[in-house]
Amino acid sequence: MPRPIAATIHLEALRHNLARLRRAAPDARVWGVVKANAYGHGIERVFEGLRGADGFALLDLAEAGRVRALGWRGPILLLEGVFEPRDLELCSRLGLWHTVHCAEQIDMLAMHKTQSPHRVFLKMNSGMNRLGFAPAHFRSAWTRLEALPQVDEITLMTHFSDADGPKGVAAQLQVFRDVTRDLPGERSLANSAAALRFGGDAEVRGDWIRPGIAAYGSSPDFPDHDIAHWELQPAMTLAARIIATQELQPGDTVGYGSSFTADAPLRIGVVACGYADGYPRHCSTGTPVLVNGRRTRLVGRVSMDMLTVDLSGLPDAGTGSEVTLWGRAAGGAVLAIDEVARAAGTVGYELMCALALRVPVSVE
Ligand SMILES: *Cc1c(COP(=O)(O)O)cnc(C)c1O
Repeated sequence: MPRPIAATIHLEALRHNLARLRRAAPDARVWGVVKANAYGHGIERVFEGLRGADGFALLDLAEAGRVRALGWRGPILLLEGVFEPRDLELCSRLGLWHTVHCAEQIDMLAMHKTQSPHRVFLKMNSGMNRLGFAPAHFRSAWTRLEALPQVDEITLMTHFSDADGPKGVAAQLQVFRDVTRDLPGERSLANSAAALRFGGDAEVRGDWIRPGIAAYGSSPDFPDHDIAHWELQPAMTLAARIIATQELQPGDTVGYGSSFTADAPLRIGVVACGYADGYPRHCSTGTPVLVNGRRTRLVGRVSMDMLTVDLSGLPDAGTGSEVTLWGRAAGGAVLAIDEVARAAGTVGYELMCALALRVPVSVE
């Protein structure tokens, strides 16, 4: 028998989340953001669940090739654009749309020989200070692009730094609005947080929203709002089984570093999941976990291949019991990946992206 740990990708949850995002941003088209191998879920595995999207957005040319290989003939957008001139040949061949965020990418386009002009997303740096033309240079970049025979339609794009927090999107939206006011073309501004929180505002949702994390069933602004608030469902479950139990006496400790000491008799379960499976080692005693669908807590330090859970109040739990590290338990109980991420001092994004290769994954 293989080690009892497995991840499951839930297609119905992906479909549900996509529909939820459409409701949040009515009339906008939706990019299914599948960068980083669909946030760790696997592009091929999520495809059936997300094929209702209007296009797929990602960063990597090889990943774009994988989406085309699945038979997808609709739009594919490279969110960072091309990295060198010959990438443009693949864009022409695969019909990829690409972001243009810097002058070098315009230079490359100007040199590119293509039969059919490319659709580009011209990106403004409206305050994130990562990719994009500064507001003062945006219009001249647009004018230059517009004059190129290699360029078809130009969509105007920016990215919010604080759509999930108290600062919000107002200041960046103002910058974007002022610079683009009289420019023609579609607009794309909103990630998951902006779409869910401000998608009711036509200016924020624009013509194309770009949700990633919410489609996978993680709340972009946890702990302010959880997935129940946003009506999202986990698209990934990580589950394992108890492979041993121990009866602790007061004063007994658990695991490396003896970080947990029992102050009363305590039964614990040893679970076949550790940090080499992608479960964060930073999770400490108290991190929530489901055993047979019932909520309990991690105790002690996470090892490479195992972790330990409190079985008090769970007399029926023992060797072989199902443990849900995140996602949905057999009986339907849900443990949001966001809660586990928070206990590790990180975000759901990092946990799903870090699911280890050794964990077998099935799709249902
Ligand atoms: C990753 C990414 C997104 C998706 O962000 P989420 O927070 O996962 O919704 C949107 N736009 C760009 C440019 C991105 O790189």
